[in-house]
Amino acid sequence: MDCVFCKIINGEIPSNIIYEDQKVIAFKDQNPQAPIHFLVIPKKHIESNDKLEDSDKELIGHIFTVIRDLAREFGISEDGYRIVNNTGEDGGQSVAHMHFHVLGKRSMQWPPG
Ligand code: 5GP
Ligand code: ZN
Repeated sequence: MDCVFCKIINGEIPSNIIYEDQKVIAFKDQNPQAPIHFLVIPKKHIESNDKLEDSDKELIGHIFTVIRDLAREFGISEDGYRIVNNTGEDGGQSVAHMHFHVLGKRSMQWPPG
């Protein structure tokens, strides 16, 4: 499958992996938008939040607890951080493999652009 994140998962494309288990992988974003910016993705190829299946509920819950733990490890849990999931064209999604951005170590603005 021609998916850049599947290629990161199977090692075809190198990346700075910070966490991996049976279901998810996390790596630094190649174009960081904050001093801390990493992506947490399911190993299962799910195109976007719109393609989630009911059976993926546990997987998504798992991703959020992984984010909680990585935020502590990277020292952003106390000051806070932002979790972003872009879905589809209007959502600004550029890679069609569902992913959660985690951004920290700077204060974020609202509303987003
Ligand atoms: P989206 O715009 O789809 O929400 O976010 C995609 C993100 O993936 C972008 O922040 C982009 O910098 C990142 N990205 C795209 N290709 C690669 C890659 O090959 N390696 C890494 N580490 N990040 C990537
Ligand atoms: Zn994929």
